Amino acid sequence: MTAAASTESATQLVLPTYDDVVTAAKRIQGAAHRTPVLTSRTANERSGASLFFKAENLQRMGAFKFRGGYNAISALSPEQKRAGVVTFSSGNHAQAIAYAGKLLGVPATILMPLDAPAAKVAATRGYGAEVVQFDRYTQDRDALGREIAQTRGLTLIPPYDHPDVIAGQGTATKELIEEAGPFDILLVPLGGGGLLSGAVLAAKALNPECRVFGVEPEAGNDGQRSLRSGKIVKISVPKTIADGAQTAFLGNYTFPLIQQNVEDIVTVPDAALVEAMRFFAERMKIVVEPTGCLAAAAAFTGAVPIEGKRVGIVISGGNVDLASFARFVGGEA
Ligand SMILES: *Cc1c(COP(=O)(O)O)cnc(C)c1O
Repeated sequence: MTAAASTESATQLVLPTYDDVVTAAKRIQGAAHRTPVLTSRTANERSGASLFFKAENLQRMGAFKFRGGYNAISALSPEQKRAGVVTFSSGNHAQAIAYAGKLLGVPATILMPLDAPAAKVAATRGYGAEVVQFDRYTQDRDALGREIAQTRGLTLIPPYDHPDVIAGQGTATKELIEEAGPFDILLVPLGGGGLLSGAVLAAKALNPECRVFGVEPEAGNDGQRSLRSGKIVKISVPKTIADGAQTAFLGNYTFPLIQQNVEDIVTVPDAALVEAMRFFAERMKIVVEPTGCLAAAAAFTGAVPIEGKRVGIVISGGNVDLASFARFVGGEA
C-alpha cells in the first residue's frame, strides 16, 4: 500500500479494497475509539425515517481522521517512522497525524493554512507537532508538502488521497453497519473523498444493496460536478462554514472509488448545517462542527429522499471553537 501511495503515475494506482479496511480495523483497535451509534426519536419523527448516527465527533481528537492517520502511520516501515511524517490539512487531519504520531513515537510536521481555526492550530501544536503555516488562497499546499517531504526526508501523508488513509476511514462505516445495519441509505460528508471512499468499500462488502450518497457544501460542489462530468473537476477554494470540506478537488484514488460506487453526490447550503448543529446541540446534546453536519443536513432537508428508510448517517467531527459554536447556535449564522 505504501509503495502504491508513492507512485506518481495515475495508471499504476492500486486502489484499496475492503481487505485493507479489515487490516486497518485491526491496526487501530485499542487506539481509536469504537464510537457510539446514536438515535433520536425526534429526528426520526421529523424525517419520517429511521436514522442511525455514527458519532465520530466523539472519536479521539474529535473526528474520524484519527482512524486514517493512525492507520497510515502504523503501516510505515521502521526507517520511515524514525524519519517522521509531514502533512497538510485544514485542521482535523493535522491533529490526527500529530496525535497518532505522538502515540506511535513518530515526529510530525504539519502544514496548516494561516486562516485555520485557532483551536485547531493550538491543538496540533499541543500534540507536539511542528506547525508550518501557509496562505491557502495563493500557495499550492501539495507542492509545498512534497518539497518539505523531499528536503527533510519525511513521508508525506496527505489528508485523503492515500490508500491507508482511505482504508482507515472505512473502519467508521464498517463499525456503523456491523452495529446498526443493514441500511437502505448511507449518507457521508464529502471533502476530498477519503471518508466516502472508505465508506463505499465497507458498504459494498457488508451491505451491498445500500445506496451510498456523498454530501458536499453547496459552495464547494466539485465532487458532484466531477461525478456528472466523469472527470475530476477542480474549483477554487470554496467559501463555506464547512471548513473540513473546503477541498478543491477529489483525488486520484478517491475519485474512481466514488465514481464506481456511489449512488449520487448531493449538496446542502450552510444554513442547513447551522440548523443541524442546533438540532444536535439542543436535542441530542452533542457538539458537532459544521462539516460534521453535512450528512445529517442532507437527511433533514430532503436533499436525499429518505422517507420510510433505514438510514446510516456519519457525523464526521466535532471540532469547533466555542466562540464560533456560540455564534452558530446563538442565531447569527
Ligand atoms: C476531513 C473532514 C471531512 C471530509 O473528509 P474527506 O475524507 O476529505 O472527504 C468531513 N468532516 C470532517 C469533520 C472532516 O474533518
